[in-house]
Amino acid sequence: MEKYFIKTFGCQMNVYDSHRVAGLLEKRGLSAAERIEDADLVIFNTCHIREKAAEKLFSDLGRVILIKQERAAQGKDTVIGVMGCVVQAEDEQIFKRSAAVDFALGTLTYHRLPQILDDLAQKKAEMVIDTEFPAESKFDYLGENTSQGACSFIAIQEGCNNFCTYCVVPYTRGVETSRPVEDVVREARKLVSEGTLEINLLGQNVNSYHGEDALGKERNLAYLINKISEIDGLKRLRYTTSYPADVNDELIDCHKNVPILMPYLHLPVQSGSDRILKAMNRRHTAGEYLEVIAKLREANPALRFASDFIVGFPDESDEDFQATLDLADKVKFITAFSFKYSPRPGTPAAEYEHQVPEKIKKERLAVLQDKLFGYQLNFNKEMVGKIVPVLFEGDGRHKGQLTGRTPYMQNLYAEAGDECRGKIVNVKIETATMNSLSGTIAGD
Ligand code: SF4
Repeated sequence: MEKYFIKTFGCQMNVYDSHRVAGLLEKRGLSAAERIEDADLVIFNTCHIREKAAEKLFSDLGRVILIKQERAAQGKDTVIGVMGCVVQAEDEQIFKRSAAVDFALGTLTYHRLPQILDDLAQKKAEMVIDTEFPAESKFDYLGENTSQGACSFIAIQEGCNNFCTYCVVPYTRGVETSRPVEDVVREARKLVSEGTLEINLLGQNVNSYHGEDALGKERNLAYLINKISEIDGLKRLRYTTSYPADVNDELIDCHKNVPILMPYLHLPVQSGSDRILKAMNRRHTAGEYLEVIAKLREANPALRFASDFIVGFPDESDEDFQATLDLADKVKFITAFSFKYSPRPGTPAAEYEHQVPEKIKKERLAVLQDKLFGYQLNFNKEMVGKIVPVLFEGDGRHKGQLTGRTPYMQNLYAEAGDECRGKIVNVKIETATMNSLSGTIAGD
């Protein structure tokens, strides 16, 4: 086995997990294949958040069976694995739905992959599945994280105890666990020493972080942010995804006192209606959400917000939907992820009465997105003429152009040489569209 290919679906946590699995495989001497056809090991890292996301896996598995057969005809073995939230949710069903799968790993057991590959190679096992919520932390067996470039992610917290009635995460990622402070700080230091300028702290419910420090004392996200912000060479710090009710005063103070904490916060609200928020089992009202936004804005007036919305939740009335539109008008989010409610097997809301017809969901989503995209475009247009620091990460649309991100996570394209790659450079914004900006280098 020489080459691996990992296809990742879903959230940033899945991207991080795939990066850690790649690290495990490279420690075994494998290297990444450019094309799936060239891989001796193919892994799908899956998402279960919406029906469509889950189904994508099985259509991909249908295609990879053919590749496996073609390679077999050339005398080449291909091992196929599935990991992530679909495995955690579907368990043995995975094998019933696709005979192509050799192993299936849950969200908390992928550190056991090396042993599974050994067992498969020595024919000691077949169709291996491991969806345990193990006592040991996978992070203790994954080895050291490596830089993902100028911008790197660190998972600090996993799982969720909130049990929103539409969400599968508490079932697929388990209860909240937090990594020890020293482990996270050490990882951050290593990434910065390898050239990382921006760190994004990850968790399904990142601001309920409660990792222990070296003395065994429980510490929160604010404490961790202050610790990490002391690392020499780190220029930018972010954290995602937060829960409104867990935004405490210490965290708000960080947005006032930690200069490298970026003025952009993703704070999902889902709905503007208290009646629907209650039915979703969200631990906050629309009013409480707006209070948190107001406190954060007071701490840092430059702070701008992103959010998540679900339209067409069971029993959502026109008035409930109007409340969502009103909340969006009050906050004027600079970007937002909005979806039609998708009933997930095993979640309470999937059994609720008064499921909203697809036609109404579609209409409401169009109205909401029209509003949200308008705010996003307006904010981007306000940037024209301004000079902003951009972290250049990769190739642009054509030779001689690079792409990067502003402090507000906006995509930006600029004519720039390789000397700007992996650097933070001032750029004068020339044009703006809804999804990106373009500009010219304005010097250090
Ligand atoms: S807080 Fe987020 S991850 Fe947790 S149950 Fe609710 S939607 Fe899911």
